[in-house]
Amino acid sequence: MADPRLSRRSLFAAAAGLALGGEALAGGARSQPDRAWPNGARAAVSLTYDDGLNSQLDNAVPELKRLGLKATFFLTGDNAHWRLGDWEALSRDGNEVANHTMTHPCALAGYSAGRFEDAEIARMEGYLDSHFGAERERTFAYPCGYLGIGKGGRHARYARYRRVLERDGVIAARTTAGGPNRPEEAIADPLHLHAFEPTYEGDKVGPAIRYLNETVAQGGWAILVFHDVLAQWRSDGDASVATHNRILAHIAALDVWCAPMGQVFEYAQTHWGRSVRAEGAAVGGR
Ligand SMILES: [Zn+2]
Repeated sequence: MADPRLSRRSLFAAAAGLALGGEALAGGARSQPDRAWPNGARAAVSLTYDDGLNSQLDNAVPELKRLGLKATFFLTGDNAHWRLGDWEALSRDGNEVANHTMTHPCALAGYSAGRFEDAEIARMEGYLDSHFGAERERTFAYPCGYLGIGKGGRHARYARYRRVLERDGVIAARTTAGGPNRPEEAIADPLHLHAFEPTYEGDKVGPAIRYLNETVAQGGWAILVFHDVLAQWRSDGDASVATHNRILAHIAALDVWCAPMGQVFEYAQTHWGRSVRAEGAAVGGR
């Protein structure tokens, strides 16, 4: 049987090749900002679903499948095991499954970096390796959007968190705030990717549409965050199926590249990494 991961990678390579071809053809327009997403798309979009919730499998996945969209599912070990077979099937189908810790702790002041790493990050990476293979893109979403471990000032706590993620091979980590990602900024600061939770303040489509349109105007990368997707809206942070599906329909109608977070990050790194490194060297040389 063909390894689905290989076929995903070859699709990715084909998409990258097309984009490079497009860039070569448009080589005369050097003054334009370089926003060459695959297939000439005007922006990139990653749909992310947090916490490994059954409602995502039951209510979001059917619409993703119907529209042919692939997404990222940030699982916790605590939740994933209930329907492990379903998450494994999603992964085989080209979706990304990634690390959202084992137990989703939100209060991290009492942790040492070592204890947090062992219990929550490394253990979850091991869990994901054993069920979804070790050849995954290692991406992460911060539980509760909290970016610090232990005690001390904000910078010290965040530096501790970053060191843990870097030690465990995480290539990109998603927060829950900020506007569209500029690809150059994303690869310069990959453990601080911006993201937007469209139904954080109510079950409305408008905020997502404004965010997506802004992303397209900038040629950037939108990362949307969903939690429960429910037949009936219940509380802030949830989305009703109707709202979720309208947001997906809007994405499907846009000229954007919709792909899992790790895949978009790898593309950005391949495509923009050289120019960012060159800029860094030029700045350093002054
Ligand atoms: Zn969460």
